[in-house]
Amino acid sequence: MSYRSRKTQAIINLSALKNNYNEIANLAPISKTIAVIKANAYGHGAIEIAKSLHCMVPAFAVAFIDEAIVLRTAGITLPILILEGPLEQEDFALAKRHNFWLMLHNTEQISWLNKVQPIYKEKLWIKVDTGMNRLGFTPEAAKKVINDLTSEQKEELILCSHFSNANEINNPKTQVQITCLKALAEKYSCQFSLANSAGIINWPQSHADFNRLGIALYGTNPTTNKNMPIKLTPVMTLQSTVIALRKVKLGESVGYGETWQAKRASVIATIAIGYADGYPRNAQAGTPVFINNQLAPLAGQVSMDMITVDVTNLANIALGDVVELWGENLNVEVVAKHTNTINYELLTRVSARVPKVYIDR
Ligand SMILES: *Cc1c(COP(=O)(O)O)cnc(C)c1O
Repeated sequence: MSYRSRKTQAIINLSALKNNYNEIANLAPISKTIAVIKANAYGHGAIEIAKSLHCMVPAFAVAFIDEAIVLRTAGITLPILILEGPLEQEDFALAKRHNFWLMLHNTEQISWLNKVQPIYKEKLWIKVDTGMNRLGFTPEAAKKVINDLTSEQKEELILCSHFSNANEINNPKTQVQITCLKALAEKYSCQFSLANSAGIINWPQSHADFNRLGIALYGTNPTTNKNMPIKLTPVMTLQSTVIALRKVKLGESVGYGETWQAKRASVIATIAIGYADGYPRNAQAGTPVFINNQLAPLAGQVSMDMITVDVTNLANIALGDVVELWGENLNVEVVAKHTNTINYELLTRVSARVPKVYIDR
């Protein structure tokens, strides 16, 4: 590896990734579990994640074709489901050439499909809107789309829908969505797909021919279910180091805008990570960081390249000490709570400035 003076890094634990995949896939033994690696594998590095899972999964999923082409260029040969489907007529030609599975969700895409010559006979995913109201045909419109397919195209049909509330274990909306899509799949006796991570974990009745596993693959809980049936291991550990230590007196402030004042004589550690690295600027004072097996609270505003932490209560803090911002010892969900966001956003926003270091043990 090239020389690095700054020790800020994201450690990506590939063996945890593979364990998580197996644990979750085993919850749905009747289903094929697609690994969702859109948005650079939720910030973990799509090429490396795809290579690591290549022998274990039936297919990958990304949001749009450009993301899939990056994977093909890197030598990934498994089918890739394109969750937003074609965004141009040309995407059908690319899909055929590269074995991408297109998800069709609007009438413009259907008109493109009908223009393809010779007739398009690859796998066709049709998205049905069962209540998310974001993408997809209403069940009625979907019937017309399906009826208009050729018999060869019907053979390759997979109906799909996406849950809006599967993370809430007591919300009845999910069952409504399941019932709606299952009725349609039965009518056409075709394959179908419903579950995201929360569906796989919370709603076994949603398991179908294909499930689409995203966030839980990366070892973070997608649900409000505290009694997880499996143990997930965080794949990303975001680390930095202490680059300064200082004493501040009672009443002195720390950082931009003097938003934090010492309520006692305090010791402040400055850590080499900031919002330009993807550490959220709206992290509130008190957001935990993990240093030398102890938790310490953020003090003052997040800067571009640094944060400041109150280590007054911690023993033996020294320059160069490793700090975990989230990962195996400090769940990213906890940090997300303190920053008014969700685990998904924190993971996907780690910036390109942070080197990724892959380990597999
Ligand atoms: C992102 C995405 C998923 C994966 O969702 P998770 O909650 O991360 O498991 C599944 N299906 C669709 C359509 C998606 O966009």
